[in-house]
Amino acid sequence: MNDDTRPPRRDRDGFPPTRKSLGQHFLTDRRILGRIADALHLKGTETLLEIGPGRGALTDILVERAGRLIAIEYDRALAEMLRQRYARRSNVLIAEADVLDVSLGELAAGPYVLVGNVPYYITTPILFHALVPPRAERSVYLVQREVADRLCAPPGGKEYGALTVNVAAVAKAEMLFKVPAGAFSPPPKVESAVVRITPLPQVLVRPDEERPFRLLVQGAFGMRRKQMRRVIRSLRAVDVPTADAILAAVNIDPQARPETLSPNDFAMLLRALDTVAQ
Ligand code: SAM
Repeated sequence: MNDDTRPPRRDRDGFPPTRKSLGQHFLTDRRILGRIADALHLKGTETLLEIGPGRGALTDILVERAGRLIAIEYDRALAEMLRQRYARRSNVLIAEADVLDVSLGELAAGPYVLVGNVPYYITTPILFHALVPPRAERSVYLVQREVADRLCAPPGGKEYGALTVNVAAVAKAEMLFKVPAGAFSPPPKVESAVVRITPLPQVLVRPDEERPFRLLVQGAFGMRRKQMRRVIRSLRAVDVPTADAILAAVNIDPQARPETLSPNDFAMLLRALDTVAQ
């Protein structure tokens, strides 16, 4: 929780001073703000959670389209400003909190949709945090272009990694459109992109498998230049014949590298590893 108790200062435009350490790059392009809101496909009845509403440029559009809006903002001065702005709207809640400390499912208390022009210094932790069940029915994020590329990467390339596989095990990630740095004030140093994440009707890993799956995938990509035989031997302290037998059971070439395995290969591998004493 933010512990700054001083009265908020204001800049020339009447906004609290920009805090770059909180990743504050405000989206000012109205056309792009509208496209992000459109990508949520809201019917007007949903509970919508917004991560990092900032000065409320996107929030202003979303309050007209959601049944209930809960916005989570860490900056105390911005949270207070938004609370005043939406004081007359009984369906809007501004939660002053670090999004990583908030259980999104508990806050929503029912089915929800998620949106965020997220602070880039914690994009990956936010994406992993939002994977914890109960997950959003769909999520739309504005992220660094490089993260969007990783989310949507096919196996085999350098962008394909632990983030790709963990998301793909439970959801579909779609690259929607790119956003130039000039659409923000102040502009970030990188290009950005909007992605939508939608849970799979049939997930590749069960909820009780998600944690060991994450550890396996992160462990494997921590050795992405190694062959799978070596990866399995390191992760499970087994000899070569045992590692080869595990991989053969799930049709994975012992000489393959982690970046060539599909999300389903990793799910099958997790189950095969379960048969080996730890
Ligand atoms: N949504 C606004 C927009 O599009 O202009 C602001 C986006 S800005 C990139 C990210 C916002 O996330 C900022 O308002 C920042 O204060 C807020 N933020 C930073 N760290 C946060 C955290 N840990 N939890 C919640 N909000 C955070």
